[in-house]
Amino acid sequence: MERILITSAIPYINGIKHLGNLVGSQLPADLYARYMRGRGNEVMFICATDEHGTPAELAAAKVGQPVAEFCAEMHKVQSEIAEGFRLSFDHFGRSSSPQNHKLTQHFAGKLAENGLIEEVSEKQVYSHADGRFLPDRYIEGTCPNCGYDKARGDQCENCTKQLEPTDLIDPRSAVSGSTDLEVRETKHLYLRQSTLRDKLDEWINSKKDWPILTTSIAKKWLHDGDGLRDRGITRDLHWGVPVKKGDEDWPGMEGKVFYVWFDAPIEYIAATSEWAEANGKPDACWQRWWRTDMGADDVKYVQFMGKDNVPFHTLSFPATIMGSGEPWKLVDYIKSFNYLNYDGGQFSTSQGRGVFMDQALSILPADYWRWWLLSHAPESSDSEFTWENFQASVNKDLADVLGNFVSRVTKFCRSKFGEAVPEGGTNGPDEEKLIAEITIRIRAYETHMGAMEVRKSASELRAIWVAGNEYLQTAAPWAKFKTDPDAAAASIRLSLNLIRIYAVLSAPFIPDASATIMAALKTDDMDWPNDVAAALETLPAGHAFEVPDVLFGKILDEDREKWQVQFAGVRKD
Ligand SMILES: [Zn+2]
Repeated sequence: MERILITSAIPYINGIKHLGNLVGSQLPADLYARYMRGRGNEVMFICATDEHGTPAELAAAKVGQPVAEFCAEMHKVQSEIAEGFRLSFDHFGRSSSPQNHKLTQHFAGKLAENGLIEEVSEKQVYSHADGRFLPDRYIEGTCPNCGYDKARGDQCENCTKQLEPTDLIDPRSAVSGSTDLEVRETKHLYLRQSTLRDKLDEWINSKKDWPILTTSIAKKWLHDGDGLRDRGITRDLHWGVPVKKGDEDWPGMEGKVFYVWFDAPIEYIAATSEWAEANGKPDACWQRWWRTDMGADDVKYVQFMGKDNVPFHTLSFPATIMGSGEPWKLVDYIKSFNYLNYDGGQFSTSQGRGVFMDQALSILPADYWRWWLLSHAPESSDSEFTWENFQASVNKDLADVLGNFVSRVTKFCRSKFGEAVPEGGTNGPDEEKLIAEITIRIRAYETHMGAMEVRKSASELRAIWVAGNEYLQTAAPWAKFKTDPDAAAASIRLSLNLIRIYAVLSAPFIPDASATIMAALKTDDMDWPNDVAAALETLPAGHAFEVPDVLFGKILDEDREKWQVQFAGVRKD
């Protein structure tokens, strides 16, 4: 039995995420967590909401709510959607938790002790009307290059010129619109990542088994241009983790908070601590996952994320951990994903283009989305959601192949033998051939799932479903029933047992359908089919079952056409 720590990149709090976000981290992480639990391993699966920073403050202001209240409500919304998609987190935490405040301050204190924090004086724009410093992109004005009047302080969207806020003509606050702005000197803390470059480089070089997508991004950031740069870890904001050196005040840093990129990954650890508290467990229970001096030495730690998050997870967060000089667990494997596009373009949160997680669940059950998204996961390159492909995949794989097998076998048995596993007959050459094929395929499925090869796993699972249908065509129990009812009984007994194996193998992809099948078979035996021949005798003759309702309804052309129009944008909140 292995101990496996799994974290999914934590979604930002200010809104509901689209299906591209889901398949880029949470969903494949859930697939892996469910599989590893199914194989009898001890799993800790952690996710959380990323709650600090200016976008949360602005989103709260927009709806006229205090930011803490806004985040609490949005966390609840995201939790419910996660449950709707059957994401089986052991804990879905919050980066605004007291645990994360304490840990973030602790790490900053250790980094300072080790000489890895530098204080830097900077000039920044202060807004009198807003009573705060403004981040560059919250200052708007006229572009000196092209005259566009809504250019941002970091870049002009119209001509793409990189800008400094002081370049703007007639600058104003994007928060209040006020032009009462002033450039002030302010002090910030920087993490001296550059001094850890060689150590990070060596560490990444040692990860021979990581996907190229992961290591190539890390290498680029380490070596391109001037190489890895120091990064600011503080901000002049109200909402966030107050800057402290461990438990102590940090002179000159009063009223400042840690920058969200610094505290967000620390929340992986903090969320595990939140899990312990929520379950009334002592600290040792979460520390054994994270402290190599407290039992985490034999933990395998796997992170899931979209490619845009790779630099933070390969460089910045490891720099925090290494720089602390304390025995915290470093990641063992990073599974990163490309982007999912939507119907000839990109998903767009601002334009409401594409299907968002809440909308998806309002039109179809979670399993339909889980199956399509995972079987088309953007692993080796970006992939694209189209309604035609979604409809074809659901109707063919789920309804025609898996659903049809379950339906045919259970209904035929009910009409000829009654609602119990039939007795009589023995395996013949067709059955032996099926067992041999399924055995090879299940071993391949295990290899792909263990390696987090999501698409290959889905295609192997589909092939295992297909093998059952092909067997049924060849064995033809409905024809045999007239001449050799014992042979038909043996064939159906094997097929009913194969349905249970399908439920076990498919649970990581389509947990609801798996549960429906298990309930219909009146068994809770989820034992993995290590020995396929033996597993095909799990349900003995005489074991009662019932015919389940239709597992997967087909998607009709008229629905597909309706949804194509509905989700083309613009979403109205
Ligand atoms: Zn411009």
